[in-house]
Amino acid sequence: MTKLLIIYTGGTIGMVNNPKTGALIPFDFDQIKQNVPELDRLNYVLEVHSFDPILDSSDMHPDIWAKLARIIEVRYLEFDGFVILHGSDTMAFTASALSFMLENLSKPVVLTGSQLPIGEIRTDAKENLITALEIAATKKQGKAMVPEVCIYFDYQLFRGNRAIKYNSEKFEAFRTPNYPKLAEAGVHLTFFKNYIKLQPKEQLLVHTDMNANIGVLKLYPGITPQAVHAITRSSVHAIVLETFGSGNTTTAAWFVESLQEAADAGKLIVDISQCMGGSVELGKYETSKKLEQMGVISGHDMTFEATVTKLMYLMGLNLPVEDIKFWMAQSIRGELTA
Ligand code: ASP
Repeated sequence: MTKLLIIYTGGTIGMVNNPKTGALIPFDFDQIKQNVPELDRLNYVLEVHSFDPILDSSDMHPDIWAKLARIIEVRYLEFDGFVILHGSDTMAFTASALSFMLENLSKPVVLTGSQLPIGEIRTDAKENLITALEIAATKKQGKAMVPEVCIYFDYQLFRGNRAIKYNSEKFEAFRTPNYPKLAEAGVHLTFFKNYIKLQPKEQLLVHTDMNANIGVLKLYPGITPQAVHAITRSSVHAIVLETFGSGNTTTAAWFVESLQEAADAGKLIVDISQCMGGSVELGKYETSKKLEQMGVISGHDMTFEATVTKLMYLMGLNLPVEDIKFWMAQSIRGELTA
């Protein structure tokens, strides 16, 4: 029989109202089980690993990603697939991080959660949980149908490192603006095989060292030298530059000099766009030509979540700077279109 491991980290799916404050707080897995008696009717062997403490995902941290990656590594051969119950707020970060940490993944790791707690009458949690389990169990010729880290939410399956949380109220909380969905759940579960990763040829390799020494510089017209210098002159090892359109910045001399100074000091600078859809094209406009010349890395069409976690992962591998620059601009887990 198919064996699945549910890893419960927390999130709205299992929350209840704090009787003192009225605010939502995470609660234990038992009340999820009580609200989904259907779990017993599924034809799978289910085991639950509950986090202690359980979290609102706003408290997510690279150390917890490492813990998740290790649980999957240790229990990898025992299970056919893994479903991670997680708050939606930082789900796209965790999915992106795990996609880099779990190299040569041959089994599904499906993250899901919900917008309404499982105890609410109109909850979206039941469908999300049950279908996530079905996806994790689906096989084709004896092998996992979706051998990747993905997010299942509101009838859609997404590649994890392409996803963003785009809506805090709709049941459709996630989108992948730069990549097609991997599957859709209607009367049937329809998988879009052309977009799903192939089975790897090598064995699973788990990487848990993440270097989070990263600064973020989101541009806006009128940004001051003080605001820019707070990042460019700080001790961070890498800067994620959130630019306009296809990767453009102001051409003001002081700004270009600040970036040059940071690049000369050995900081990695990655250019991603503030636009949700489309890609960075360094050198397309005069306004990004200078960036290209000073060695700014194109993040192409990567999400912010994928960019930050990929930097943490590559810097955690302690690679030479030139190698990190090279790999940042290449797809290593299907996270970008170059
Ligand atoms: N604050 C919650 C969390 O991310 C929101 C959710 O689960 O949807 O844990």
